[in-house]
Amino acid sequence: MSQSFSPAPQLDGDALIADVLIVGGGMVGLTAGVALASAGFSVIALDRAPLDAQLDAAFDGRVSAIAAGSRRALEGIGLWNHVLAQGHVAEPIRDIRVSDGDSLAFVHYDSRALNDKKARSASAPPSEPEPFGHIVENRTIRAALAARAKELPNLTLLAPAELAGVVNEPSHALASLRDGRRIRAALVVAAEGKESALRAARGIAVTRWSYPQTAIVCTIAHERPHGGIAHERFLPVGPFAILPMTDDHDGRHRSSLVWTEKTALVPAYLALNKADFDAEVVRRVGDFLGRVESIGPRWSYPLSLLHAERYTDERLVLIGDAAHAIHPIAGQGLNLGLRDVAALAETLVDAKRLGLDIGFGEVLAGYERWRRFDNVLLAGITDGLNRLFSTSFTPLVLARRLGFRAVNRAGPLKTLFMRHAMGLVGELPRLSRGEPL
Ligand SMILES: Cc1cc2nc3c(=O)[nH]c(=O)nc-3n(C[C@H](O)[C@H](O)[C@H](O)COP(=O)(O)OP(=O)(O)OC[C@H]3O[C@@H](n4cnc5c(N)ncnc54)[C@H](O)[C@@H]3O)c2cc1C
Repeated sequence: MSQSFSPAPQLDGDALIADVLIVGGGMVGLTAGVALASAGFSVIALDRAPLDAQLDAAFDGRVSAIAAGSRRALEGIGLWNHVLAQGHVAEPIRDIRVSDGDSLAFVHYDSRALNDKKARSASAPPSEPEPFGHIVENRTIRAALAARAKELPNLTLLAPAELAGVVNEPSHALASLRDGRRIRAALVVAAEGKESALRAARGIAVTRWSYPQTAIVCTIAHERPHGGIAHERFLPVGPFAILPMTDDHDGRHRSSLVWTEKTALVPAYLALNKADFDAEVVRRVGDFLGRVESIGPRWSYPLSLLHAERYTDERLVLIGDAAHAIHPIAGQGLNLGLRDVAALAETLVDAKRLGLDIGFGEVLAGYERWRRFDNVLLAGITDGLNRLFSTSFTPLVLARRLGFRAVNRAGPLKTLFMRHAMGLVGELPRLSRGEPL
């Protein structure tokens, strides 16, 4: 990248000055910090959780399916190197198998079937088809973000730090932190997740509902290799995903489970002793992986859908779960947030090239127009799939099994779904296409 860099955030009187202030240094917020700083902006990112706590193994037990388009974007901002530098941590997803309960109906997506040029990574050797994506532990992504942030002199991470309020002045926003520090920035990015305080403070309404489902997440060790296949099974209570992970240091084959369950039953499942919990796991996973046992802690995440009525306000823009949160049925929530980041970075870079104020309403409106359709579409698809498959109502069961057959037979439809899973559909930002900002 050959941008002319803004200096590290400066002090003016008692206020720190930066081009952009990012509130919320989670996986989306800090990726935005890295992308914008890599593009030459001076950035301050803050998070209320101390950095050490965020990097601790106990902070987040999930893995993320990083779609091919997201991986390209992470490569483009110098982050993917830091993922790979942690060793054997990113498992390619070569196949996806979607099945309907205990029926024999399933759809098989094979990344090797996508041999068109568009689906190929610029960096992948021609003989090697690009996988759908990679399964990476969230703690690995967080560690990569912290390492990349350290390399960028024009990115300052304040954690722990909490925002007290923001006032808008004619040429900038002035933010006050609870510890008394003040930050002056042309643009404030809200990346505080579903309960965004900045979104609430600006009176931005949201559409939201809770699913009567909670995701139980745990890692399993299994006797046979998974072969890079991700399984999504639609059980009557909700989807059950088996996601291929890299083998551990002892060579044990591992997968991550995202087991959707009725919320009321989750405490009882989490409290089971290991033998009984493993028996429940085996009942759902089956025997195709040989002997299976759970390893490490069990986690639970209540599920909900949220969509903000607008993504912008005066000198404010929403990204990631602060703007939209979706059911994890398709493993796309973080990928949407990463596409927000890629689109926002491109919008701001182009505005800067034209000499425009990056906090200018018209500039931000461009970002919102760009991202709304993709986010609403995925919210609708994931909500619809969850409803369609979490039912044992016979006509719907028959309809979806016929749907499976139709998808298996219709080549172009299958290809479209595969390219969707790779995050390669729609008006892609330059970073997601593997191009520089
Ligand atoms: C079970 C499960 C599995 C999933 N699997 C996948 C997957 O495979 N692929 C995928 O793409 N997506 C997946 N997702 C979705 C994905 O995890 C989320 O979309 C993503 O983590 C959102 O990141 P974020 O940074 O926007 O928000 P968050 O992760 O919520 O981060 C917000 C950050 O802001 C900080 N913060 C909050 N309030 C303040 C404040 N007032 N001041 C300062 N800091 C603040 C918090 O400490 C936090 O660090 C999954 C979700 C679930 C529940």
